[in-house]
Amino acid sequence: MRKALKQYNFDWMLWRTYEAGSRLLAGTRQEYDIALRYIPNFRDPVKEVFKAKAGQLFLQMTATYLDNIVNAHQRGKKTCMTTFCFSPAILYALDIVPVTLELLTVMMTFLYKRGTGEFLDYCNEAGFTETSCSSQRGSMGALLADIGTPIDMVVTDSPGVCDTNANAFAFFAAYKDLPFFQLNMPPWLVEERVTEYHVQDYKALIGFLEEQSGKKLDVDRLREILTELQKQDELINELEQYLSYKPLPLSVTTCLFIYAGRFMFAGMPIYTQLLEMLVNEGRENVTLLKQGINISHEKSRGFFCYIDHYTHSLRLWQMLEELNIGYSGNILSHFWADSNPPVVHNNWKEAAYSIKTGTLEEMLTSIAAINSRMPMIKSIRGPYDSPYMWLQDTLALASMYKADFIVYNGTPGCRNTWGMVKLLAQDTEKAGFPTHIMYADAFDDRVQSWDATRDRFEEFLRVRRLL
Ligand code: SF4
Repeated sequence: MRKALKQYNFDWMLWRTYEAGSRLLAGTRQEYDIALRYIPNFRDPVKEVFKAKAGQLFLQMTATYLDNIVNAHQRGKKTCMTTFCFSPAILYALDIVPVTLELLTVMMTFLYKRGTGEFLDYCNEAGFTETSCSSQRGSMGALLADIGTPIDMVVTDSPGVCDTNANAFAFFAAYKDLPFFQLNMPPWLVEERVTEYHVQDYKALIGFLEEQSGKKLDVDRLREILTELQKQDELINELEQYLSYKPLPLSVTTCLFIYAGRFMFAGMPIYTQLLEMLVNEGRENVTLLKQGINISHEKSRGFFCYIDHYTHSLRLWQMLEELNIGYSGNILSHFWADSNPPVVHNNWKEAAYSIKTGTLEEMLTSIAAINSRMPMIKSIRGPYDSPYMWLQDTLALASMYKADFIVYNGTPGCRNTWGMVKLLAQDTEKAGFPTHIMYADAFDDRVQSWDATRDRFEEFLRVRRLL
């Protein structure tokens, strides 16, 4: 790794940049325009985020997340390295600061033209496999090189679901000699024994977190967080209804805001504020649509059946806008509460989670169920075409959002999805959805340039007459 990269902690630099970005709209329009001249490398991502009304709040939320990490030890808190598919709600209930690798990687790829290549490569220098997922390695490299806030413990929940995810965390914990806890996910979701397994496993996790943090789980705090989560679920349900309108009444970045916020701040008021802002915008725009006022020129609509592409400056979202493609949901922006539209519509209550805030036992059962239904953890834990797994979820969501086509995007290290993506695509095609498989790496443009990715995507749209 270049010496220059080691001069400042990567999380500190990210924090200051997001913080500064979130303040850009605080002054006059003229001040904003002038400020853009002085940030040539950052102006495009900032401009893209500000196209949405909730953009400023989204940047503030991201800056707060980084602030929590950078200042955790100074504030007497422990840090816990974890993954996007682990709900951080339990960490907040124990006053532990989550450090989510995939989120940090994406925060960097959006902002830095150089991407995360040097951190990715540093993982290999340290001895970790290069055939692993780039979403963890993009930021893990910086933490392996000790240019980030020190990590106190590691928690993951993806063995069986995604081996490369689980191995990244196991490697880091072994390399740094840190306490490590791994939740397990049986291949089936809906079975009494599986529910019991999840709850017992989760209780063991709480014991681990209590021991490492030196704090006891505060039952009232957990109740507050779960109550806030219920509120957030209702807001997401309302948003999902707006997102199924044609033309789309919300900005194409809406789903990114929904899932990034949930991964950062599940059960925290700042995320509720973001969702409320999105819902208010959705309500206003749906009223305009009902009055016959056209607010977008949507030509066609895509459903992303796995993750998005996180290239610099949010160029995926820029492209969708330029091509007038509506983008109203992906597998990451979807959370399986029992009140969620597809759950209610298909009577899939047994595959969903219910939040109960009565006794401690009820709360632990609820939070274990939420965690075991996180994106990826729910849908690719077992055979792709089993009940409540990837195929069923994809088809239900693509239909609900009235998608005209489906896109798969992942990383070359994504063995669990690559092993079944062609079969999935055959099935989604049979169900009437033209399906495009991207061969890019969502977190590393060196595998396939964004320009090549875009060319192939546009070719697919033209050949299948979707534009
Ligand atoms: S399923 Fe794929 S993208 Fe998700 S963490 Fe695993 S390797 Fe990465």
